[in-house]
Amino acid sequence: MQRWSLVIDGRKVATDGFQDVINPSTGGTVGAMPLATSKNLDDAVGAASRAFALWKDVPDPERAEACRAIAATLEENSEELAKLLTLEQGKPLNGLGSRFEIGGAVAWTRHTSELSLPVEVLQDNPDGRVELHRKPIGVVGSITPWNWPVMIACWHIIPAIRTGNTVVIKPSPLTPLSTIRLVELMNEKLPPGVVNIVTGENEIGSLMSAHPGIAKVTFTGSTATGRRIMQNAASTLKRLTLELGGNDAGIVLPDADPKKIVEGLFWGAFINNGQTCAALKRLYVHDGLYEEVCRELTAYARQVVVGDGLSEGSILGPVQNRRQFEIVSAFVDEARSKGGRVLIGGNPAGGSGHFYPVTLVADVDHGCRLVDEEQFGPALPIIRYREVDEAVAKANASSMGLGGSVWGSDLEEAKRVVARIEAGSVWINKHGAIQPNAPFGGVKQSGFGVEFGVDGLKEFTTVQSVFC
Ligand code: NAD
Repeated sequence: MQRWSLVIDGRKVATDGFQDVINPSTGGTVGAMPLATSKNLDDAVGAASRAFALWKDVPDPERAEACRAIAATLEENSEELAKLLTLEQGKPLNGLGSRFEIGGAVAWTRHTSELSLPVEVLQDNPDGRVELHRKPIGVVGSITPWNWPVMIACWHIIPAIRTGNTVVIKPSPLTPLSTIRLVELMNEKLPPGVVNIVTGENEIGSLMSAHPGIAKVTFTGSTATGRRIMQNAASTLKRLTLELGGNDAGIVLPDADPKKIVEGLFWGAFINNGQTCAALKRLYVHDGLYEEVCRELTAYARQVVVGDGLSEGSILGPVQNRRQFEIVSAFVDEARSKGGRVLIGGNPAGGSGHFYPVTLVADVDHGCRLVDEEQFGPALPIIRYREVDEAVAKANASSMGLGGSVWGSDLEEAKRVVARIEAGSVWINKHGAIQPNAPFGGVKQSGFGVEFGVDGLKEFTTVQSVFC
């Protein structure tokens, strides 16, 4: 079994302690994650601080070139990264799985390489000239989750270094290895200390969010952890970008065509087995086409192949970890006990992997956890409504506000309804489609700050007004 190392100051650093990383398809061990100490974290922050003193002054075109070189090396090594990601995360190589994720990481890196934040002239007249300059913040602490570990790492690291910051990243202890490999590859194209990685349990994340040498934390993960990070960051007033949980609603309007929308609905909900922040997690369907939508979704779900991600035929894999598997099981069991009609799935077969079948639960409503909370797994509640106003009110009856969607044939009507959903991103006749030129982020308790595009880049800078 391979024992992995931290990467600090451009060098591999061995640790005394290790923790096994488990393959969720088999229960076997994928490799040994190094357990960083607080001394390792201090070393990483120290290296990043020293690198910042130089990297912040590297001419912008050179930083852009380094990011392009990273995109190229990720592309060259994409198959190796995809296999490692499948082994530790569980998602299949195919479908919207590992190859798709690495492809996304390359695309986002490339797009961000070409963005820039030139000096803006706010005023230039006889009264004077005022320029707005954007400056890097310093050492950025990046804390990532286990659902899309490689892509999210690139979403954090690339805009940070593109704008002249340096990074210490801490991935989830459940999926750390593909991020270590990613950082190794990045270090082949960057000066030492620009990107460092420390791995370990949640405690390392806690230490990072309070560390005086870290100027900003960019975090993607659960709302509960986001709150803790905000508390820990308060003593040093760190800048924060928090991309947190979601409980996205989708509303199927009375004029929708169930046959046309079924594929989009299914993948909006079940992409990455539902373990996606902006997946469709509650589906509201008008009474007039409720049964037909249920039938179409069930028929679609029946032909989706769930299996070990390394098998080329698998389209969905296992749930990533036992804890999440137990949450999904408990939510479905409760929904069933409250009168929910399980259309398909609901009964996991057992065995060594965390396989939970694709599950659709009809005839449920608010008042059960499958609807009220984020299931983050392959189980979708389908809720019947009679008035569109009622569906909108229920969609907004959540403390979360990440995404939302409306499905219908009359585009103008769909636009009117979707504008009423309280969420950072809304879609018509699709759900969860994101792209590198459109800002993405949550409202309400789904977090604050945005990623992607020029607005995302700005999050890694402070503003300096220059009065000439
Ligand atoms: P999590 O909050 O449990 O863990 C995320 C990361 O935070 C991990 O690296 C973990 O080790 C670290 N961490 C845990 N406790 C910490 C602490 N006290 N201080 C600092 N760091 C700490 O989340 P998860 O289970 O890995 O991911 C699932 C959640 O992430 C879901 O709620 C999902 O919606 C959310 N998510 C949001 C987005 C988004 O863009 N909004 C994207 C992906 C996932």
